[in-house]
Amino acid sequence: LTAPGAPFEMETLDIRGVPTRTWKNAPPTLAHVFAAGRAHDDKVFLVHDDERVTFEAFGRATLALAARLRADGIVKGDRVAVVMRNLPEWPVAFFAAALCGAIVTPLNAWWTGGELEYGLVDSGAKLLIVDAERLARLTEHLPATAIEHVYVARAVDEYSEPFANPLIVRLEGIIGAPMSWADLPAGELPPVDLVPEDDATIFYTSGTTGKPKGALGTHRNIVSNIMASAISAARTYLRRGEMPSVPDPAAPQKATLLSVPFFHATGCHAVMSPSLFAGAKLVMMKKWDAERAMALIERERVTGCGGVPTIAWQIIEHSARANYDLSSLESVSYGGAPSAPELVRQIKANFPKSQPGNGWGMTETSATFTHHMGEDYEHRPDSCGPPVPVCDLKVVDASGNALPPGEIGELWGKGPNVVKGYWNKPEASAETFTDGWVHTGDLARLDEEGFCFILDRAKDMLIRGGENIYCVEVENALYEHDAVMDAAIVARPHKSLGEEPAAVVTLSPGATATADELRAFVASRLAAFKVPVEVRFWDGPLPRNANGKIVKTELRDLFKAA
Ligand code: AMP
Repeated sequence: LTAPGAPFEMETLDIRGVPTRTWKNAPPTLAHVFAAGRAHDDKVFLVHDDERVTFEAFGRATLALAARLRADGIVKGDRVAVVMRNLPEWPVAFFAAALCGAIVTPLNAWWTGGELEYGLVDSGAKLLIVDAERLARLTEHLPATAIEHVYVARAVDEYSEPFANPLIVRLEGIIGAPMSWADLPAGELPPVDLVPEDDATIFYTSGTTGKPKGALGTHRNIVSNIMASAISAARTYLRRGEMPSVPDPAAPQKATLLSVPFFHATGCHAVMSPSLFAGAKLVMMKKWDAERAMALIERERVTGCGGVPTIAWQIIEHSARANYDLSSLESVSYGGAPSAPELVRQIKANFPKSQPGNGWGMTETSATFTHHMGEDYEHRPDSCGPPVPVCDLKVVDASGNALPPGEIGELWGKGPNVVKGYWNKPEASAETFTDGWVHTGDLARLDEEGFCFILDRAKDMLIRGGENIYCVEVENALYEHDAVMDAAIVARPHKSLGEEPAAVVTLSPGATATADELRAFVASRLAAFKVPVEVRFWDGPLPRNANGKIVKTELRDLFKAA
């Protein structure tokens, strides 16, 4: 087991038959990351409202839950679904399942009951760890799934009676409430052999086929991402010819404000797991709210604030900002969506002590794949940085041939962070992964030094405040309405969210439907963030190119003036 802060080296290795590079001295599996967390014992790991959970208490709760999972029959390779908003129970559920060798399957907490059912059925999950709010959404869907056991978090207020279904039990009945986790017995690691190539997670992401696909990540993928997150800051020093300082265990604890959901690869792999490894405090929020965020930054002396660019903008532009002491901030880092170069200047102007940072990644790269911060970023405020160590990027033409620096093409990435493929979807996997390279669907160029500039998306997707919306999924929902003949979803620009979904619809001859009716129809099928904020009606068929694809550039212009 590598001690946190030990020097990292790189070596050339052949994983999965694909020549690539990987980390040396890195913890091989999530079990080792978990064990590293135990070194921070009585420091606070999780803060949620007034609940404070130390690393030791987190460790005890995790081992107690892992023991119960095994007693309920969870063995290596089983899928355990985690369907909760950001709660201290989330990382406990994640690591308990991972320690049993299960493939942890986090589902999007904003999904509707129908969408969650799809995730549970597709992954074949056997056990569900869910919060009470989402259980209410899911109850009628459970019979259609393979779920055998349900543990419900935060059920106390909602349900005073025992559950009618004996397979549904309170999580609190197993591990107690967060503030009592420190009193649990020390516990033991489950006797499960884990190796880096074992499957560890399924994170759902959509794609051109519409239905979400499960990106299957291994322990190596996740650990590699943790290493990448840990080292990217150090690399900024190395580029300047300075030695990064090895973290001093006696130094003041770092604290991160968690503004992204754990159920996104970024929240889980790039924020939660690295915090466990580095001994940093994680400050959670029930729901994003810029003023509450500032109050927490002040109260918890938050040193790092990350998330999507929208979040940084909302803090910078908030009228009450001067009322809060935000001087503890050392870095404001973001990714997940394009950000204007102006944001870098705003961060420098408003938080002079704080380093701006930008990283690009996707679910298929287990989160972070490029990153830069501080001076590197200030010099190239329109770049998302070079690839993280041990990972490679190239820009290719339509035939997959690498293009020279400066030329624009599709971005492909390769390295130990890149997932194995999609769960039970060989065709989609073959389309997206070639010899270990993931086709990202982003249009980009690289400069002579390998810095990456994202220019556009080849994939038909928009990003609303960090949540990806695959147009085809919303279009398919619209097509289910009897009155809809033709439908296209395009991005409507929005100042702080970046983009919002808007619809252009042609009705069938003689049919009638109002915009509100169509919006309500989509809302009954898909999560609220995917519902078009505006519906415009079009006379006749939508404009199409020679291949029959809708020409969206023309439709997008409809919303420019909005
Ligand atoms: P996801 O799989 O949900 O993490 O979404 C990945 C996609 O988000 C990428 O393929 C990009 O289109 C977009 N994205 C992520 N990070 C950035 C960034 N720093 N700049 C621009 N777009 C980004």
